[in-house]
Amino acid sequence: MKIGQDVVATIHYTLRDPEGEILDSSSGADPLAYLHGHGQIVVGLERALAGKGVGDKVDVVVSPEDGYGTHDDSLDLAIPKTAFPDEMLGQLEPSVQFVAEHPADDDQMVMYTVLGVEEERVLVTGNHPLADTPLHFNVEVKELRAASAEELEHGHVHGPGGHHH
Ligand code: ZN
Repeated sequence: MKIGQDVVATIHYTLRDPEGEILDSSSGADPLAYLHGHGQIVVGLERALAGKGVGDKVDVVVSPEDGYGTHDDSLDLAIPKTAFPDEMLGQLEPSVQFVAEHPADDDQMVMYTVLGVEEERVLVTGNHPLADTPLHFNVEVKELRAASAEELEHGHVHGPGGHHH
């Protein structure tokens, strides 16, 4: 079996920034199981893994465009506190995340992270912390199997390395 659409791939990975600093790694922990072709991992890594088999190693640098995006200034916002529902105001503090519309496109939802809370405004960013960062992945493919019908319906993996519910 090779990695392709609707295959559940279990991988060990290490992600480094261009300076070689480790940003994330499954080393020393359980490997990651993901459902290929469903946008669960960044598109550039998904593309690099397509066609690989168990035991294959992949060493790839993913551009920001195929990773966590390029920095979008229009997503750095200062929102008046009056724009938030009362019940949410008490919970706003740095690193809290919420989903809301893109400022220029009502149809697009964006995950925002609170950066700071001022007297009258809440400073947020819809940019991913790794926007603009080329991502250097080292991956080893550990296991492959076909997804179950239920996993395909949910769009994610069940069991070890995936969702438990
Ligand atoms: Zn599920």
